[in-house]
This record gives sequence, C-alpha cells and structure tokens, in this order.
Amino acid sequence: MNYNVNENGYYGDFGGAYIPEILHANVENLKNNYLKILGDPSFQKEFNDLMRDYVGRPSPLFLAKRLSEKYGAKIYLKREDLNHTGAHKINNSLGQVLLARRMGKTRIIAETGAGQHGVATATVCALLNMPCFVYMGELDVQRQHLNVQKMEMLGATVVPVYSGNKTLKDATNEAIRDWCCNPEDTYYVIGSTIGPHPYPDMVARLQSVISEEMQKQLLEHEGRDYPDYILACVGGGSNAAGAFYHYLHNEKVQLIEAEAAGKGIDTPYSAATIHLGREGIIHGCRTLIMQTKDGQIEEPYSISAGLDYPGIGPIHAYLSKTNRSTVLAITDDEALEAAFLLTRIEGIIPAMESAHALAALEKLTFKPDDVVVVNLSGRGDKDMETYIANPK
Ligand SMILES: *Cc1c(COP(=O)(O)O)cnc(C)c1O
Repeated sequence: MNYNVNENGYYGDFGGAYIPEILHANVENLKNNYLKILGDPSFQKEFNDLMRDYVGRPSPLFLAKRLSEKYGAKIYLKREDLNHTGAHKINNSLGQVLLARRMGKTRIIAETGAGQHGVATATVCALLNMPCFVYMGELDVQRQHLNVQKMEMLGATVVPVYSGNKTLKDATNEAIRDWCCNPEDTYYVIGSTIGPHPYPDMVARLQSVISEEMQKQLLEHEGRDYPDYILACVGGGSNAAGAFYHYLHNEKVQLIEAEAAGKGIDTPYSAATIHLGREGIIHGCRTLIMQTKDGQIEEPYSISAGLDYPGIGPIHAYLSKTNRSTVLAITDDEALEAAFLLTRIEGIIPAMESAHALAALEKLTFKPDDVVVVNLSGRGDKDMETYIANPK
C-alpha cells in the first residue's frame, strides 16, 4: 500500500484538484515548485531556524505518569500546545508564507473558522512583513471576537463574510474568489490538509515535523523510534497527518483518529465526517463530505470550533477506507470529561479539539507496556469560556 499522495494528487480515489480554470496556472505553478522549494537547503535552514527560535521547537514529548496509571499503558503527550500561538497551526503557516515569498508572491490571504489559523497566519505575516487578509464568516467574527482582535493587532485585515451560513465554508469560498481575482501576486495559505492538490500533501509535509521529532524523542525515552499507538483529533486533518506522517508505512503503529461526534452521530448535531460523510467535491478536492441526499453541504456541529468542518482531508478518507487508521467519534461530553481529567491530574489545560484525542483513550484497551502518543494539538486558553460553562 502507498499512503502518500500519488503523482496525480490522489490518495486512492480521494484528492485531486477540482478548481476553476482561472486558478489552473496558479495551482499548477505551486504543484511544479513546492517540492523543489521545500527541499531546497536554504529554505530548510530558514524554516528550521525559525521553527526552533520563533515557534519554540522541538516541542517536548512528555510522559504523563498519572494518565499512564489510569489507562494502564505508557502515555506520552506530544506538546504542540507549547508552540508560539498555542497550537500546531503555526508550523504550516510559517512554511507556506516562507514558500510564498520564494515564489515571488507579495500578498497573503487565508480563511479561518475559529480564528486559530487566521491568528497563526497573521503572526507569521507580521514577522515576515507581508500584507495579510483573513476571510472569516460573520457569525465566527462574533463568536471568536478575541481572535479577530488579535489578528487586527497583528496588522492583518479581517474580512467578514455575510454569505451562506456565515461560517468557515463561506469564508473559504470567499478566499477562493479573492484568489481568482488576484492570481498574480496573491498566495492562499490553506490551514489544513484540504484543498486542491498539492495543498493536502504540502500541509502534511510541513506538519510532519511532529512525527519526525517523535522518532528522535521516542528513541531517547524508549530505545525504539516508534510507538504502538498514535492518537490525534481530526478537523481537516493537519495535526493528525503530521503526527502520523513518518509512521504511515510502519504497520506496527496503530493510527487512531478522533473526530467530533458533537451531540452524537445519530443526532443532527455532529461533525463526524468520516462516520457520516459521503463522497463528493469540496473546496477543490474529492473526499468525504457531510451532505444532504441531494448533495447540499450540511452545517456541521461540534462544541469545538476547530473540528466543525464539513469535509475531511483526502489522506484521512483514504487511511480510514483502507483500514490503516481507526476512526472514533467522540461526543462533546466525552471530550469535556477528558479535558477536565487532564487538567486535574497532569496540570495541563488542553484545547477542546485535543481533548477529543484524549477522550479516545477511554475507548481503547492497552497492554501495560504499550507506548501511546497523544498529539496534544493545542492549549485550552481559547476554550476557557466553554470550560466555565460546562464544568465536569
Ligand atoms: C485547528 C485545530 C485543530 C483541527 O485542525 P486539524 O487540521 O485537523 O489539525 C485541532 N486542534 C487545534 C488546537 C486546532 O487549533
């Protein structure tokens, strides 16, 4: 089996590049250059130096002793929550903006739902002195006001989107429209392993630093460079793709994906795309989508703003279809329980998204010497209101 993207941009039947004609040259240009640029030693030096000194990498791999006792295995946390801006998203934003600069682009656009990808991209644009425009649904602008204020303080222009449901999907459509109007000077930073090829592969590669570091850190701690299990939450799938990347072809490693069940997969309030989705095309790629019988995209629901995307990265649609990964649906309540547990016994307040990965521990049975890594994708500061409103 090959779990990496093929030369046509597909993972099995999933992926590809379904884009308007006007963007064809742009996407083609990106496709023809991204591997060259990412592999260039001077790019790598620039990227790696900033990952170390600005983002704060490598992120620690922490053996969580009390969590280990509770679940009867050796449980490590990969601490992406300790990165600058509080999550894994900056790994990708930094890589793409550096790449955009090398492609001669002078203007950055992005879409954001909860605002985390917008903040990460605005941060990197401030650092690298690039003008930045962030599209955000008007409902999200209201719901995530602090992130709007952060982006504005960082010098970005936040563009509220009033169409559709005024959420992420509408913001993405608007960002694509902007890109269509400004194909020459503008670079579109996509925030997850989604969009037309080569984005899903490019984002996975930029996030693969997570599993690259894990290999070194596990070798130090355990004398072998792989764990028995890796657990990650999936919204669009970027933190999971990064945590899995160097283990995709090591069948000794079980890959566990936690998607957001919301109030339950048998209710209308869910974002469990892999459980509930059917094949279709969204934002430039063929993948699983939450859709009605006649193909209208359904508004997803999750307590976690970072997980309520109606699609899923094509790599994850493929990993699950081939049974390389196991996908568990985690409800709001299960995730909340896991967030409070981690906080009480390890002193770490996780992001609501990451709490879905932690909750998956409850659904697995381990042997005492199993080595388990939970990718702690982000910190919980942004979720305090949710935690205060839903104490466990
Ligand atoms: C955005 C976000 C996610 C979901 O995005 P992926 O692309 O699936 O990783 C998960 N965790 C945190 C902390 C986030 O900010």
